[in-house]
Amino acid sequence: MGLRFTHETLPQRVVFASGEAGHSVAAEVGRLGGARAMVIAGAAECVPADEVAAGLPVAVRHGEVVMHVPVDVADRARKAAADHDVDVLVSVGGGSTTGLAKAVALTTGLPIVAVPTTYAGSEATPVWGLTQDGRKTTGVDVRVLPRAVVYDAGLTLSLPVSLTVASALNAVAHCVDAMWAPRTNPVDQALALEGLRALSDGLPPVVAHPEDVDGREQVLYAAYLAARAFGSAGSGLHHKICHVLGGMYDLPHAETHAVVLPHVLAFNAPSVPGIERRLAAAFGASSALEGLQRLRNEVDAPRALRDYGLREADVPVAAAAVLAAVPAGNPTPVSLASITHLVHAAWEGAEPR
Ligand code: NAD
Repeated sequence: MGLRFTHETLPQRVVFASGEAGHSVAAEVGRLGGARAMVIAGAAECVPADEVAAGLPVAVRHGEVVMHVPVDVADRARKAAADHDVDVLVSVGGGSTTGLAKAVALTTGLPIVAVPTTYAGSEATPVWGLTQDGRKTTGVDVRVLPRAVVYDAGLTLSLPVSLTVASALNAVAHCVDAMWAPRTNPVDQALALEGLRALSDGLPPVVAHPEDVDGREQVLYAAYLAARAFGSAGSGLHHKICHVLGGMYDLPHAETHAVVLPHVLAFNAPSVPGIERRLAAAFGASSALEGLQRLRNEVDAPRALRDYGLREADVPVAAAAVLAAVPAGNPTPVSLASITHLVHAAWEGAEPR
């Protein structure tokens, strides 16, 4: 069968420069003609943000960062940008911080230079998200795609090991779900499989030696590929489940992904044997599920949604909401019974099957 697909390549400069974030971000801001920067970073991200801000023409620092970007938080950031006549946004932090910069860019058109300090990957996608009254709305707009991303693994050294594991498994989920997501194509799959290989090889050494910059650099590289694949392929069943659960029950983003993924893999893999074999090879394992579970065991991955606040009584309501969001063309047909079983298994931390 011939190749027949469309793949959109997004306009973004990506710089890998461990130990050089200050210099590299200043250069990217200069390329964009920025003279009044708004540096956005949450409380836990102040140290890396100070390092980056030192070489910039800073007009204002903004520190109010909240996961899933509540609308009122976004509005205050937009007002700060207007009040200080900002001409470039510099985000230093995880997906929540990048998400706030995107919310400002969405209404102002200001360019973003993103400096990621987790493996969430928001910096490599044109997807924005805002939350109001417990409901998360997402959309795609190329204006929110950071014009430049500077990856400095040195800035991720302070990420605690438990967050490192959950966030890297979020990146693993981008790779796996990209293999069957609605717009997947051979380019996304090539990025996803190389991302998965690098995560599978790279994460255990980082957990053993969290201070090793070279190891963290490998995981950042993998997280970038994973996000590129996910951003292009769109949300498959796994992302839809996590999106619904996260929005309805305010569950932590990365940990939810880490728990749910093996259950979705076990559910979909039997329907796509060719993809299953390629995933297994990327993990260096005899099956994809065996590879994922081996990695999860090696790094002591989050196990159960009940550990993060989901109650058993929430499972039927959550499953019904997920059913309404199932992407068309999911490899294994989804019923209320099968999705209830899947969500319950993730709640309980049961062995996936
Ligand atoms: P996060 O940004 O909330 O970070 C988690 C915690 O880690 C925070 O307390 C943060 O301050 C802290 N932290 C971050 N970097 C640190 C560092 N280097 N040292 C110490 N502490 C550090 O969580 P996340 O998982 O990175 O991002 C989750 C958010 O990003 C969610 O809202 C999710 O929906 C969004 N997201 C969006 C996309 C997209 O394409 N739009 C992709 C992935 C994630």
